[in-house]
Amino acid sequence: MTIQAFDYIAPDSLEGIFENMQGATSQLLVGDQSYVSLLKRGYSVPGGLLISLKNVPELAQIESGGGYVSLGVTTTFADLKKHESLSALTALQGALATIKDPHLLNNSTIGGALYHCQAHHSPIAGALMALKAEINVRGPRTSRTVTIEEFFQNGKASGLLSGEIIRSVRLAVAGIPASSYQDISVHNRVSPLCGLATSITRKGKVIESVRLVLTGCVDVPVRLAKTESQLVERSLDTIQIDYNIIDSEPISLAGDLHTQTSYLNHLINVLLKKTLVPS
Ligand SMILES: Cc1cc2nc3c(=O)[nH]c(=O)nc-3n(C[C@H](O)[C@H](O)[C@H](O)COP(=O)(O)OP(=O)(O)OC[C@H]3O[C@@H](n4cnc5c(N)ncnc54)[C@H](O)[C@@H]3O)c2cc1C
Repeated sequence: MTIQAFDYIAPDSLEGIFENMQGATSQLLVGDQSYVSLLKRGYSVPGGLLISLKNVPELAQIESGGGYVSLGVTTTFADLKKHESLSALTALQGALATIKDPHLLNNSTIGGALYHCQAHHSPIAGALMALKAEINVRGPRTSRTVTIEEFFQNGKASGLLSGEIIRSVRLAVAGIPASSYQDISVHNRVSPLCGLATSITRKGKVIESVRLVLTGCVDVPVRLAKTESQLVERSLDTIQIDYNIIDSEPISLAGDLHTQTSYLNHLINVLLKKTLVPS
């Protein structure tokens, strides 16, 4: 397949980005890990102009303070792995640990992970949802912050209006709940069958609050809200994990010829047990 011709610019300011964007977020490039493979498959750049965010210093900033870390959207997966204040966010670190390719780790960015989030590649976005991330979105003259659930409303990364970009992601790093990311993979598939990011606060063995975020077998990460509500105020000693996710949650599981949805339902229960039930 021949890549269609396009121009490329890398402005060094947000103004330069907005001046050149023609409303389409799909013109933006960061680490180029996902975008370039789209181009190789014949995708054409809207307006014939590809705009890299890499040279904008504001988008690369990592700022800590008041119990939060704000990560500029060009922060790479490798930066997330080594930043000290993020080491306690075990869901994020667990999701990062699933990415073995050094090239991908060093080049993929948090912005690409949120925007290009797909069924097969969403461990990072799932972990960010379990950790209650907030996303700062910038337009040419606007700045607004949305919860990650709002960002992924209607089952897709639709939280951006025309002409807006993701600027940064804010995470709490003090007083944080216990969290984890686990998935189930099979050797002949590039991506896991399903993954579960969780965060949980407990009083003794009683669950006070829990966030369960399913990834991998859904279009974008999604909270299992009904299952969460059934777990709150229950003791870890007495919970029986055998949920009918397919019927109780308003989600559709992406099964295939080899992985029927009933099997995915079973696997999700396995992940819930591994995460919640003390061994
Ligand atoms: C072979 C391969 C294997 C992969 N394996 C994994 C894996 O194991 N785990 C995993 O999590 N991911 C995986 N991925 C996915 C990839 O790593 C992620 O999608 C990554 O985060 C892309 O980041 P990037 O910076 O390279 O994004 P890019 O490719 O530069 O951009 C991706 C998309 O995001 C949009 N975008 C980027 N930044 C912004 C912004 N600030 N505002 C609005 N839109 C924006 C771009 O317009 C583009 O459409 C894989 C990808 C490939 C090609």
